[in-house]
Amino acid sequence: MNVPADSLAERWAAVRGRVDAACRAAGRDPAEVAILPVSKTFGPEVVREAAALGLRRFGENKVQELRDKSAALAGLGLDWVLIGHLQTNKARDVARLACEVQSLDRLELAEALHRRLQAEGRLLDVLVQVKTSPEESKHGLPPAELPGFLDRLRGYATLRVRGLMTLAVQSEDDQAVRACFRQLRELRDAAAARGHELPRLSMGMSGDFPLAIAEGATEVRIGTAIFGRR
Ligand SMILES: *Cc1c(COP(=O)(O)O)cnc(C)c1O
Repeated sequence: MNVPADSLAERWAAVRGRVDAACRAAGRDPAEVAILPVSKTFGPEVVREAAALGLRRFGENKVQELRDKSAALAGLGLDWVLIGHLQTNKARDVARLACEVQSLDRLELAEALHRRLQAEGRLLDVLVQVKTSPEESKHGLPPAELPGFLDRLRGYATLRVRGLMTLAVQSEDDQAVRACFRQLRELRDAAAARGHELPRLSMGMSGDFPLAIAEGATEVRIGTAIFGRR
């Protein structure tokens, strides 16, 4: 993984350039692929610096950290996206503070978020996290359960289901990594055929985003290559 030691502005420009290059290599329009900067473990002062570069949306994987940073930077009007595993007992903070959750992976959580969102009078964009990798440590809905899950989500009017998210297997084997991303795209296409429009595919991180872009990612989640090592 290539983490140049220069400024945040230079690293951000370099990542945008590499994403654009991956799009061109895949015959895709760079305007189709967004970057979600993942600011986890970096303090509010780093996010403030990123905001000064024009970045508005930030991915966090822990509710506590999302809460602390959104409070510290409340005046900046930033959008916070939860990308990590969410316990139902933290649904309240998320319903109040996040604009989006990419890690929705079970009905119990949909139910908890829906109740809290109703109380707040808010809507939330959600992506369904699907487990495309065999690794025990990875969360996500088993692929076979996706069709039924999407049907059930129609019952929660506060949740706007916008797409799917996954983490690929950690492997040196590009074909194995790519197969995870391909599976997510195929699940999206199968869902569309059943009447579930899911335009967004959030897949790819610092180490594997070119493969995800080749398989149709509309959004890559980049931490290390922008902010540095954690
Ligand atoms: C940390 C994290 C990322 C970013 O990972 P990098 O390798 O640092 O780019 C992306 N997605 C999720 C779910 C993460 O937790």
